[in-house]
Amino acid sequence: MSECIFCKIAQGEIPAQIAYENDVVVAFHDITPQAPVHLLIIPKKHISSAMDLNTEDTKTIIPEIFNAITGLAKDLGLKDGFRIVNNCGKDGGQTIGHLHFHLLGGRGLQWPPG
Ligand code: 5GP
Ligand code: ZN
Repeated sequence: MSECIFCKIAQGEIPAQIAYENDVVVAFHDITPQAPVHLLIIPKKHISSAMDLNTEDTKTIIPEIFNAITGLAKDLGLKDGFRIVNNCGKDGGQTIGHLHFHLLGGRGLQWPPG
């Protein structure tokens, strides 16, 4: 997707503070962090939202995303816990149309969300 900002980050066309990367996923620091640790984990492949995952993506990409998340949580010392968030669609508060998971941690987080 030529106009997708997260595709551009994944391809290195827009700078981001990359925390982890492999062939399938990239993790980078959110530009407006909401917690001491706030990373975004995305597939390199453009997928618009969780509702646009096909069966193959669900079997291949989602495990890579969760492996990246748990690896990062361990490396960053989030031993007291953390939150994984996927905002999906308008009502879910999704603002960037490229599938991403927020990894939030480093402080106690409130619940429920707004
Ligand atoms: P959403 O609201 O779609 O779940 O989350 C989008 C996230 O992307 C927001 O937390 C926002 O701060 C972050 N974001 C938007 N544009 C950029 C950018 O250019 N670089 C980085 N690193 N994060 C971005
Ligand atoms: Zn994209």
